[in-house]
Amino acid sequence: MKQIIKEQRSFFNTGATKSISYRIEKLNKLETILKQNQDNLNNAIFSDFSKSYFDSYTSEMALLFHDIKEAKRKLKKWSATKRVRTNLINFPAKSYIVPEPLGVAFVIGAWNYPIQLALAPAIAAIAAGNTVVLKPSELPINTSNVIAKMINENFNPNFFKVIEGGVKETTELLEQKFDKIFFTGSVPVGKIVYQAAAKNLTPVTLELGGKSPAFFTRNCNLKTSVKRMVWAKFLNAGQTCVAPDYVFVHKDIKDEFLNSLKQEIENAKLSIENHNYVQIINEKNMQRLVNLIDKKKVFFGGNYNIEQRYMEPTIVTNITFDDIVMQDEIFGPILPVIEYENIDEAIAEVKANPKPLSCYVFTKDKQIKNKILNEISFGGGGVNDALMHIANSKLPFGGVGDSGIGSYHGEYGFKTFSHFKSVLDKPTWIEPNLKYYPLSLKKLKIIKLIMGQ
Ligand code: NAD
Repeated sequence: MKQIIKEQRSFFNTGATKSISYRIEKLNKLETILKQNQDNLNNAIFSDFSKSYFDSYTSEMALLFHDIKEAKRKLKKWSATKRVRTNLINFPAKSYIVPEPLGVAFVIGAWNYPIQLALAPAIAAIAAGNTVVLKPSELPINTSNVIAKMINENFNPNFFKVIEGGVKETTELLEQKFDKIFFTGSVPVGKIVYQAAAKNLTPVTLELGGKSPAFFTRNCNLKTSVKRMVWAKFLNAGQTCVAPDYVFVHKDIKDEFLNSLKQEIENAKLSIENHNYVQIINEKNMQRLVNLIDKKKVFFGGNYNIEQRYMEPTIVTNITFDDIVMQDEIFGPILPVIEYENIDEAIAEVKANPKPLSCYVFTKDKQIKNKILNEISFGGGGVNDALMHIANSKLPFGGVGDSGIGSYHGEYGFKTFSHFKSVLDKPTWIEPNLKYYPLSLKKLKIIKLIMGQ
């Protein structure tokens, strides 16, 4: 590991990655090998947790192809030196901002979207001119193997290298000095990564999780909202960082909402055989989810098969924040429904807990919409939809507070892996002597005048 990082740093220091054409050439190469390996990747992810070709394309590959295309198109603009105004006190001079790559970037991926969460940050790092060490999640092992083979056979390790492994390997890698660490995963491991980075003052982006609420107000468009909600919650069997974790529903529409939810889940015919549902990633997570189901509170579903790592979409009702299902991020196909009467009380409950990664509000009431958007701090979210904000690369994607530090997607990804160097560029044909000795009250007066004070 040490050797790889050393070689990457030497290569970075040659300045080769600073050329835009070099970056575009590497992005082209990545695009080509992704296309060539699409079937291998799809087969691997299917064998890991039964994720279908349809879902692999829409929630993994399509985003990567989009990111590469966008980066190639915008790279020149993003990386251009930007002139800014020079203030009077510095006159005459030019002021500009020069984006520059940080150096050797370390990307750590999570398992739930194992291709996209590993490669999207890598694409942003390459676009910004860094070299990359990538550690995909070890849980979907077949996917990790294919990613490693695909990258390591096609890129020079001094530019882009995949190192596979779990806690041991990640811990060892975190002992090395990087110029940027980009981590996607859980809050507890995020803290470990942050501590390791602090030893070297390495900047981090932490894409973490949390409990993301969805509000259904009295006058929402129930049919459309529930349809969108069911898709967002049960995509990837709820193993999505921005999935609605739980629902706050107004008491006047609770029964109608629950019936509509049940109907919509039945209509969706979610099953592995229908290729629109996946397995739980491993037995440990399966057991964790089973322990979250309070049988007395199951309104719908609740069946599972531990051996097959299958859990059906499950709705639990009459939930309060004291229930076990409300203690941590669920990250699975269990949807707790909490009734509310007073929106201020519901908002206060959310605010009493760590800041969520996402928040969704389904409503036609502008006042309530604005109240929720203004009063709750969250990473990103949506009004009358869930999850889809991540598909707009003009929106920065990231958490706040416990749900993360920093953001990426589109230009935000480029910025995440860049330093913005400030330059004040002065000519020598004139030298105002206001700041030089001897100092005087007259000079001070002129300085104050220039400063407008
Ligand atoms: P995780 O934190 O267990 O693992 C993430 C990565 O860290 C893996 O590559 C793993 O090998 C490594 N790792 C695990 N334990 C470690 C340790 N002790 N020391 C060093 N490295 C370690 O997370 P996960 O189970 O892969 O993913 C689920 C979590 O990730 C959820 O909380 C979810 O919300 C979050 N997530 C966030 C986003 C986002 O973009 N914000 C996306 C997907 C998942």
